[in-house]
Amino acid sequence: MVLPKPGASDPHLHVVGTVRVPSEKFCLSKWVEEENLHGHYCQCGCGRRIRVLAWHRARGIPRFLRAHGPTGLTKETARYRAEGYLTATDVARQLGIGQTTLRRLEGKLFEQAPRRGTRKIRVFTPDQLPELQVLLKKETLLGPAPELIPLGEVARRAGCCRNTIRARLGKELPAGRLLTHPRTSFAFTPEEAEQIVAWIKQYVGTRPTRHT
Ligand SMILES: [Zn+2]
Repeated sequence: MVLPKPGASDPHLHVVGTVRVPSEKFCLSKWVEEENLHGHYCQCGCGRRIRVLAWHRARGIPRFLRAHGPTGLTKETARYRAEGYLTATDVARQLGIGQTTLRRLEGKLFEQAPRRGTRKIRVFTPDQLPELQVLLKKETLLGPAPELIPLGEVARRAGCCRNTIRARLGKELPAGRLLTHPRTSFAFTPEEAEQIVAWIKQYVGTRPTRHT
């Protein structure tokens, strides 16, 4: 760097504009007060107010109260839903069963759902729903309007004990089917149930209902 000799050159200074330096220094506590007056609310929708603190000035005012923000899991499931998939929660709700029940049925009533991401989130496709509804109706007593009628209900209709029917299953009466969901129980189609009720009423007669 070559400097001109002192006094050898004219600095040629010109005034090109004026800048007014604010005399009032930035006041942090005033900022906090103003932001709180303005009001910041949790973005989760809970409607609760976020108290602005001094250190928020540098780090930013949080958008959510603690533990109110979307977690990584929520974001991930939101992404799968946006892609058109259903989560286990969605499927369980649409089938009218609990999530635990759905998990128990997985691999038994229907094939294991594929898992996505590091969190191994189970994803379903919307076209699986009708199929699952049919399976649920035919193979279990779960969900709304199951097709099968449990033994207890048939016994109640026939006005006899469960054992009266159970002892004759596969002999005088249709075998029915042994379900394991939601509990181990014999169950019958509406036609079979009708047949059983008619047979019991004709050949066994009715007696006060017990154990049903
Ligand atoms: Zn909130």
